Formats: sequence, C-alpha cells, structure tokens
Amino acid sequence: MRPAVADYRTFGGGLVEYDRDAPCLVCQRPVEAASMGGTAICPSCDLGQHRDTGEKWTLYEYVLITRDKMTPQAAREALRGRAPPDEP
Ligand SMILES: [Zn+2]
Repeated sequence: MRPAVADYRTFGGGLVEYDRDAPCLVCQRPVEAASMGGTAICPSCDLGQHRDTGEKWTLYEYVLITRDKMTPQAAREALRGRAPPDEP
C-alpha cells in the first residue's frame, strides 16, 4: 500500500486517506491519484478518457463501460474495427 492524502475542501470531506495502488473501480488499474470523482476512480476515468492515449471514450465505449461494466481497454478492443451504426 502506498498511502496518500487528498484534501477535499468541498463536500465537508476534509482530508481523506487512500491507497494509490488500489484498483480503479472502472479501469482496474492503480488509481494513483485522487480526482474530483473521489479516490475510488482514477483521474482518467473521472474525465471519461483512456489512460494510455488521453482520448475521450466514444459513446459506444461509454455504453459498454457503464452498462456492461467493461474496462475502457476491453470496450475499445470489443469495438475495434466495427463501424458505428448509421445516424438516424
Ligand atoms: Zn480508471
């Protein structure tokens, strides 16, 4: 465990201890740092973007991540090479 402390001045939270190595609830990689979303998700997932490239999740990736609980990496891999549906 690599303990760290985040200071949340809003929400009345004050100082919150957390483990930098704890897995992010969304991408399962070490959370590393606190974000506005808290200490349970990493800053990249908090922003809805891939950690390795910084690209925003697509709408279809977002659906797989939130509805089907896939990691962002798995969602991107599942959609690789597939064309998005035609716009109505
Ligand atoms: Zn994450």
